[in-house]
Amino acid sequence: MKKTIRDMDVSGKKVIVRCDFNVPLKDGVITDDIRITSALPTIRYLIENGAKVILMSHLGRPEGEANMKYTLKPVAERICELLNKEIIFISAPEVVNDQVKKAAEALQAGDVMLLENVRFRKEETKNGAEFSKELAKLADIFVNDAFGTAHRAHSSTAGVADYLPAVSGFLIEKEVQFLGNAVESPERPFVAIMGGAKVGDKILVIENLLKKVDTLIIGGGMAYTFFKAQGYEIGTSILDAGNIGLAAELLKKAEEAGVQLLLPIDVKAAKAFDNEAETAIFDKDKIPADWMGLDIGPKSMELFANAIKEAKTVIWNGPVGVFEMSNFAAGTIAVAKILAESDAVTIIGGGDSAAAVEQFGLADKMTHISTGGGASLEFLEGKVLPGIACLQDKN
Ligand code: AMP
Repeated sequence: MKKTIRDMDVSGKKVIVRCDFNVPLKDGVITDDIRITSALPTIRYLIENGAKVILMSHLGRPEGEANMKYTLKPVAERICELLNKEIIFISAPEVVNDQVKKAAEALQAGDVMLLENVRFRKEETKNGAEFSKELAKLADIFVNDAFGTAHRAHSSTAGVADYLPAVSGFLIEKEVQFLGNAVESPERPFVAIMGGAKVGDKILVIENLLKKVDTLIIGGGMAYTFFKAQGYEIGTSILDAGNIGLAAELLKKAEEAGVQLLLPIDVKAAKAFDNEAETAIFDKDKIPADWMGLDIGPKSMELFANAIKEAKTVIWNGPVGVFEMSNFAAGTIAVAKILAESDAVTIIGGGDSAAAVEQFGLADKMTHISTGGGASLEFLEGKVLPGIACLQDKN
């Protein structure tokens, strides 16, 4: 267990907090502020407990240059609005300069300041010690609350912890609690649903989960590589040709581990990758040569639903069809609805499945939606995340 801000006396201390304010922007306007609102519990706790709060984040990919297209100014303005309180924002191209140091020094208990985009510094993504030290010198305590970048060893996510006592904020605490418990001590039956485009991206997750789950459901584009490995023809469906052998190996591993591996038994296919294309349902062994499978079919929905209904813990990562197109979203909607109705602990592993659940208005029916796509995948792969490993352990 990692220490959190509750384990520290933050009163009167300067606390530097790594947040994930990497929000989508259109013409300089924030189009979705969920990442900012998600960070508020930690920020409010620090304010209420008399800390002097210094926030930092990256935004986009300025590639180590002070490109004002990626300034955190809009984020600073939104934080002001949400907290209903003035905050200090100094748009320093070097992130930390004399003005910033003086402002940090002058902070009073309950004050909040935001640094400029940490990726304006090229040392940031290389975890350069000089930049880590500059950040650390501003404060007395480091708090990591950016789960979305916890799989990266950068100056602001991990390096700074070499020079300051480091603990987690509430967001990371929640992620570790839900993802960690699900993987290490799940209530059983434990079912994982994996979807998405390619097997290649998810091999390590599948391998790790095969050691933990009772049932593994595979849908989405990656199912076709498994069909191929089983000797079926898949028409023009997406194929990860380099990984057919690996899919065969995973099928074998599942059998050896006594894990029930469920693949779709029918598919909704089209003649082209187009929402307006003619569609038809085929059993998986009858996909014609010039059709591509773009969603699971009704029999598969029922098969998957029955397995999910039995579960006490479910992890879902990746849509089971091309849900962005309305004609191929039914499978993903069905999975989301079953999870929403389930009494099981339901965990959505970030990225596209999180977007799907939001889009269908079912987000508040899930136990936990991970805020980090890449980070949650690496967590489920069983990897150590540098932004979490660097935090102090509870005694
Ligand atoms: P990933 O980022 O690997 O989770 O993949 C998500 C993407 O997989 C989404 O954009 C889906 O449209 C896509 N996808 C799901 N099922 C299929 C399919 N049958 N064929 C092609 N792409 C798919």
